[in-house]
Amino acid sequence: MVVAVLALQGAFIEHEKMLEKLGADSFEIRQKKDLEKHFDALILPGGESTVMGKLMRECDLYEPILEKIKEGLPVYGTCAGLILLAEKVEDGKPALGTMNIKAKRNAYGRQLGSFYTEAEFKGIGKIPMTFIRAPYIAEVYEGAEVLAEVDGKVVAARQGNQLVTAFHPELNEDLSVHQYFLDMVRQSMLAQAG
Ligand code: GLN
Repeated sequence: MVVAVLALQGAFIEHEKMLEKLGADSFEIRQKKDLEKHFDALILPGGESTVMGKLMRECDLYEPILEKIKEGLPVYGTCAGLILLAEKVEDGKPALGTMNIKAKRNAYGRQLGSFYTEAEFKGIGKIPMTFIRAPYIAEVYEGAEVLAEVDGKVVAARQGNQLVTAFHPELNEDLSVHQYFLDMVRQSMLAQAG
C-alpha cells in the first residue's frame, strides 16, 4: 500500500513517520508530475489551509487531486486538511469541498488555540488528541458520520473514503488513527478488486 502525502506546507513529515511505523510506503506530492506515481491514498496535513489551498492551485495540483477524491481515492485530512475537504467553511472559503461538513476555523479562540486532551474515537476507544489552532466541525450533513467529540464539539468525521480529524494524531505516539485510515484504504482496495 502506498500513501501519498501532500507536502506543500505544514506538518507532513510527521505523517510519513507514522506511516513508516505502520509499514506503509509513502511519498511526497509537491508538483504535478508527482501525481503520475501510483498511490492508493492521500493525506492532507495540518498547516495553514488558506496557504495550502493557494499553493495547490499554483502548483496545478488542485484539479487533479479534486478529481481523484471524487473518483473515490481514500483521503485523510488533519486540521488544515479538514478545512480543505469541508464543503462549507465558516469565516473562510472552501477549497476541495468534497466532504459534507461545515468547518469552523480557529474555533477555540486565541487563548485556547492549542491544547491536549484524551477522548473517545468511535471504533478505537480513548486516544490522545493534540489541537493546534484547530478548527472544529460546526455542522455534519447527510452522508458524513461523527467519529469523535470534545466538549460537545465534533472533532472527527468520516464520509465513505474520506476521514478528517481536527486534531493531530501524528504529533503523539499513538498510531491508532493512522491504522484506522489504513484499514479504510485496505477495505476500499478490496472492494475495488472484488
Ligand atoms: N488554523 C489553521 C487553518 O486555519 C489550521 C491549523 C492546523 O492545521 N494546525 O488552516
